[in-house]
Amino acid sequence: MTSPDERRIAVVGASLAGLRTAEAFRTGGWQGSITLIGAESHPPYSRPPLSKGVTDAADPFSRLALRSSIDIQATWVLGRTVEACDLTNGVLRLDDGTTLTADAVVAATGTRARRLPLDRRPANMHTVRTIDDALALGKALRHGTRVVVAGAGFIGCEIAATASQLGCRVHVVTFDQTAMIAPLGHTVGAALQRRHERSGITFHTGRTVVSVQGDDRCCDVILDDGTTLRADVTIEAIGSVCNTEWLTGNGLDLHEGVLCDNDLHAVASTRTAIPIAAVGDVARFPNPIFDAEPRRIEHWQMAVDTARHAARTLLHALGHGQPVTNPFTPLPSFWSNQGSSRLQSFGLPGLADHVEILDGDLDHDFVVGYRRHGSPIGVMVCGGIREAARYRRWLAEHLTDGLVPSAS
Ligand SMILES: Cc1cc2nc3c(=O)[nH]c(=O)nc-3n(C[C@H](O)[C@H](O)[C@H](O)COP(=O)(O)OP(=O)(O)OC[C@H]3O[C@@H](n4cnc5c(N)ncnc54)[C@H](O)[C@@H]3O)c2cc1C
Repeated sequence: MTSPDERRIAVVGASLAGLRTAEAFRTGGWQGSITLIGAESHPPYSRPPLSKGVTDAADPFSRLALRSSIDIQATWVLGRTVEACDLTNGVLRLDDGTTLTADAVVAATGTRARRLPLDRRPANMHTVRTIDDALALGKALRHGTRVVVAGAGFIGCEIAATASQLGCRVHVVTFDQTAMIAPLGHTVGAALQRRHERSGITFHTGRTVVSVQGDDRCCDVILDDGTTLRADVTIEAIGSVCNTEWLTGNGLDLHEGVLCDNDLHAVASTRTAIPIAAVGDVARFPNPIFDAEPRRIEHWQMAVDTARHAARTLLHALGHGQPVTNPFTPLPSFWSNQGSSRLQSFGLPGLADHVEILDGDLDHDFVVGYRRHGSPIGVMVCGGIREAARYRRWLAEHLTDGLVPSAS
């Protein structure tokens, strides 16, 4: 029988959620070893600034490095990918052929950028997910650069605004009717799109990129209606794909992330010998303040909240710490800076069936309330920081006071 101090937690994915999980293990009293394995060669850093400005090539980590308030006493294995994981025997296999054993596993592998289905991809096509991506893009953007952004979600719109502020000539292509329609709905998405258009960005809505022709320096981006956009730089910002391949073969539900219960335990068709929890962008779990539907939430704060909760769940599974008794009810919250617009969203506005302006007007600072089946489900604040705190509290009270919208 292994003594508690010899037991090992393997955290796969050494970014925000992985780091915060390791911290939560230590503050929860874990004395065994913790190994953090990360595919990137860099120590953990913050991704949100990557799309909100040009990353400082001289010293990118001065602004981006994620720090820890405690010494997490972890073994770091960076620049290595976990290729396979056997949860029956607690063995992980890395891409250099080495293996390591674990008594519990944390899946913190996040997502990667979804790519357009193209036969050919010239070198001037970019994604923005990692610091290396952002540095490469930063080098390519100059005053007058012709830029095509595929995708008008938060990241696409942030990059478009950054490029436009640099003096680039920017076109955004989206399959949707308006920018940011999925997370914010048509009314707000259209209002924010108009702001971008006023700053000189051209939108091609209801359109998709079918091919990219040319060389590595200049391309023709061809849309499905035949429109041709000349581009020095093309950016693919069409969403994300979950990094779950390494968990295949363990009876887990890996459709759209790692399916978990409300305590972030991964749900397995057969009992796994060692416990596994998922955190951050890759975790798909039900949140009872909304309903029973498991969802993934790609928000910074959710990575932090799930990390803390999953550590408590695993600590208890390993015979350490108190059982988790209260349901896990984190309030999704997200911010986005796009040119001069400062946006903060709380709850899940994308689920709403009714939208109302609570304050201001859509051409200036405003607050929009979202309802589903008559009950508040989200708030979006454009501008005012103080209003944001007040509306966040208001929404949290509604959602957690049992005023859960009923599906009937
Ligand atoms: C450009 C950009 C802008 C953003 N802006 C905002 C914002 O304004 N507000 C906000 O709330 N959120 C924002 N986000 C989202 C936020 O950054 C994420 O929610 C957060 O990074 C999630 O952390 P994570 O640790 O779960 O995943 P990630 O940060 O994606 O980290 C996962 C790590 O796991 C590694 N990995 C993957 N597979 C393996 C493997 N098999 N073996 C080992 N390692 C592996 C990856 O290389 C990566 O380093 C933004 C994200 C991006 C990319």
